[in-house]
Amino acid sequence: MITEFDHIVVGGGISGLSRAYSLQKQGVKVLLLEKENRTGGVIHSKTTACGVTELGPNSLAITPLLEQLIEELGLNDQLIKANEVANKRYIYLKGKPILINPKTLIFSNKVIGFGSKIKLLSERFKPAKNVPNETLAGVIKRRFNNEILTNLVEPVITGIYAGSPDKLEYKSSMKRMYAMEQEHGSFTKGFLASRKSGNKREIVSFKQGLQQLTDALRDQLEHVSYEAVQFISLPNDKVVVKTSKKNYNANALTLAVPAYVASELLRPIDDQIAKLIDQVEYPSLLGWQVTFKTTSIQHRIPSFGILFPSISKKVIKGIINYSEIFGTNDDCRHFTVFAAANSTNKEQVEQAVIEEFRSVYGVKDEPIESIFTFYEKAIPQFNVGHSELMKTIDAWEKIYPQIKILGNWRTGVAIGDCVNYA
Ligand SMILES: Cc1cc2nc3c(=O)[nH]c(=O)nc-3n(C[C@H](O)[C@H](O)[C@H](O)COP(=O)(O)OP(=O)(O)OC[C@H]3O[C@@H](n4cnc5c(N)ncnc54)[C@H](O)[C@@H]3O)c2cc1C
Repeated sequence: MITEFDHIVVGGGISGLSRAYSLQKQGVKVLLLEKENRTGGVIHSKTTACGVTELGPNSLAITPLLEQLIEELGLNDQLIKANEVANKRYIYLKGKPILINPKTLIFSNKVIGFGSKIKLLSERFKPAKNVPNETLAGVIKRRFNNEILTNLVEPVITGIYAGSPDKLEYKSSMKRMYAMEQEHGSFTKGFLASRKSGNKREIVSFKQGLQQLTDALRDQLEHVSYEAVQFISLPNDKVVVKTSKKNYNANALTLAVPAYVASELLRPIDDQIAKLIDQVEYPSLLGWQVTFKTTSIQHRIPSFGILFPSISKKVIKGIINYSEIFGTNDDCRHFTVFAAANSTNKEQVEQAVIEEFRSVYGVKDEPIESIFTFYEKAIPQFNVGHSELMKTIDAWEKIYPQIKILGNWRTGVAIGDCVNYA
């Protein structure tokens, strides 16, 4: 095995794979090192009798770069677009799932009251502001009110970050929203402008699941090795990477690993930057990938899924109706259910998830397939201070030009963001 490379990429998730692929295309001799015996990172698809089961992310929102990548990888004929029904979203309020649309939002009191409707309709007239260190909760209360935060925004944010709007930084966690306010003066005007320009991002997956994308990227790479990186040093401005098996030498290195791994690997080089990176929080999350016979589901809810705000007092935070979005097999229905859990309460949470799900969908029968997946450190939180930390890392990379730091915790958690940044 060769041990000399131009560039080494550590981490075989979508960030590392995209980075290695892009470097190799530029003629760089690149080695990708991945600690597990598979690439893909949190993207992990399985094929079952009912079709695809996603153990991590379920879908991606297409971006121009992703479109180009899919074309280059020859995956166009494998792409599946979300059914029309995926435009429908439900929020669980007052004991039942409520479809969110202008009718329920403005012409009924099912989601918000009169005062909130006025806030929603008059938001466009509120002047834009740029408040330093503002949280997501802060901006929603500033431009709307607390009811809109608790009934509408908080469940959406939980669906993306599994975190709290009281801690998430507005500017870095919701970049598109922030840009709407700064560029158009309000969310309403920004939203209408993006609709007008046809900027809506299509939701897609692949016939064999999202892992088809990461597998196709891996198959393009000439040098991939399944070894955990344990230590990095920079003798004479070069890079030495020590793994569980051997030492590799290179001129440059990309770290495409979670923040808590990057922090450990960078500690011997610069303890200060390691301490700062270590501050990125990762809440844990429980996922339930479950499949029932279609005939077992009494209340079918054709939509992308249901979000559960904290005020619903449910353990479940979100349900994705995978079969409604991408399904082709009419005999069975596959769902991904997410709940907040930690290593000490996950067994109780599993029970509560099953009971709550059964009650919402009216299911008595046993599932055809049931997999619980516990993500000890699920999604990085872009909490207040995150944009400053990213600036510090940008400056640090100029001092250590042989090291580039990537990953979903740098510029955005969506798969499209990871590919763009890589
Ligand atoms: C449950 C869940 C659901 C999600 N749903 C969606 C969704 O529907 N749509 C969407 O767009 N996004 C979704 N996301 C977010 C998105 O999937 C991730 O942000 C993205 O896939 C992360 O990619 P990454 O390459 O940055 O990190 P990872 O996928 O975490 O990859 C990091 C890689 O580094 C490897 N590694 C770690 N330590 C070492 C080491 N010492 N040596 C070598 N390798 C190492 C790991 O094994 C891993 O393969 C979801 C995330 C989760 C957790």
